[in-house]
Amino acid sequence: MGPGLTLFIDADDTLWENNIYFDSVIGRTATRLEEYGVASERTREALMAIERQRTRAHGYGSVNFGASLEVLCEHVGLVHALEDLRPFLRAEIAALRRKRLELLPDVPDTLAYLRRRHRVVLFTKGNHDEQWDKVVRSGLRDHFHQVDVVREKDAGAYRDAARRLGVRPDRAWMIGNSPKSDILPARDAGFGAVFVPHPGTWALELAELPPDNHDAGILRVETFARLREVF
Ligand SMILES: [Mg+2]
Repeated sequence: MGPGLTLFIDADDTLWENNIYFDSVIGRTATRLEEYGVASERTREALMAIERQRTRAHGYGSVNFGASLEVLCEHVGLVHALEDLRPFLRAEIAALRRKRLELLPDVPDTLAYLRRRHRVVLFTKGNHDEQWDKVVRSGLRDHFHQVDVVREKDAGAYRDAARRLGVRPDRAWMIGNSPKSDILPARDAGFGAVFVPHPGTWALELAELPPDNHDAGILRVETFARLREVF
């Protein structure tokens, strides 16, 4: 494609690893709750239902995830054990927040290439301070013309971002790993979208995409580096 587009790029699990760390906290929590007689399957299912509901009300991020783990303990009948479990849960969340950010392969070079040809906006959802902290720690801030953190990435958020940044939707593309947050709502708002799948994507970010070639506005690349072939 010719230069001069605006590329909105997702952060978590597109630029750096994120969900695998949440998954490992869930794994250790499930193991811990087994000691109290709660089957691992039950822990995982209950947490999924709790997070589906709580992220809608409270948004994303490690603080809300920590609160969801406490709600989980109550939900599986461990109200009395919560005093016991709380130090473990808090230590897990604290470690999650300190985690070194691990960039996905070829991200800085690819961003440098894209930035030379297009306007590049990091577009991420979640807790404002936490997402900004990750952007700074990633060392990628200077690769972006702009950074935009929103509470939820729905079609309205894409329309709003296009308006705020003065971008025509038909000159904008969204790039990311989440069918639910990156691809479908961006298409609804009239953006093009490039799906970059990540095998560790959070279950709540999955959604069915149209079959290949049914929508010329949705492309798929298998690695971040291959965005050079598109843009
Ligand atoms: Mg993502």
